[in-house]
Amino acid sequence: MRIDVLSIFPSYFDGLTLSLLGKAQSTGLLDLRVRDLRDWTSDRHRTVDDTPYGGGAGMVMKPEPWGLALDEVAGSSDDAEGGRRPTIIFPSPAGEVFTQKTARDLATREHLVFGCGRYEGIDERVFEFAADLGEVRLISLGDYVLNGGEVATMAMIEAIGRLIPGVVGNPESLVEESHEDGLLEYPSYTKPASWRERAVPDVLLSGNHAAIAAWRREQQFVRTRTRRPDLLPDGEDEHS
Ligand code: SAM
Repeated sequence: MRIDVLSIFPSYFDGLTLSLLGKAQSTGLLDLRVRDLRDWTSDRHRTVDDTPYGGGAGMVMKPEPWGLALDEVAGSSDDAEGGRRPTIIFPSPAGEVFTQKTARDLATREHLVFGCGRYEGIDERVFEFAADLGEVRLISLGDYVLNGGEVATMAMIEAIGRLIPGVVGNPESLVEESHEDGLLEYPSYTKPASWRERAVPDVLLSGNHAAIAAWRREQQFVRTRTRRPDLLPDGEDEHS
């Protein structure tokens, strides 16, 4: 998968050279290209923002650098010739909320472009223009406001990247995780069996695989009901 990121703070993404996603880049599973939006400015100060029409607090990101940057990374000949338009994602607190389902969907795409907003956001016409180059998605990390799109983009790239086949060594470990089946994951334990007078549940030491599977399933419902009842559709809690 190819991922282009446009940001005025490209060094935020240095962390993505670590761990599994770093390895995915060195083995060629992930082609991550982080670019400085200011490279597409032409003035001495490399300006990317201006005052909002209509007044109001804060600054708005100018459309010109975004247009040139998107022309280059999203309108590239690869996509045009192959007929495969990129998916262009603008992190935004006013977008659809990112979930594991979104990550699964985006992990099937060949080319993602992330445009990281700053200040009060990006001139609205950029989103309309980007729709000529690819599928545009405005995606929120959650119902709160961050200073910029960088942290949201990193979170999304990590969630999407680990779903690319081969990135996580044992694909089985992806299946039983929280949100994969609409429930939270069951509790996990490792050695020692007793630690600071706290024992691992007996069933996990029993060697009875059916009993362990049943206990884990029950714990998924208990946890989800307690912590995230909003995830349980009415009547679906078979253990209530
Ligand atoms: N004025 C905007 C609003 O009220 O919707 C918020 C702008 S915010 C200070 C600057 C940038 O941070 C946004 O353009 C977006 O890229 C990013 N951002 C902030 N909160 C976010 C969230 N919850 N999810 C994704 N991106 C977010």
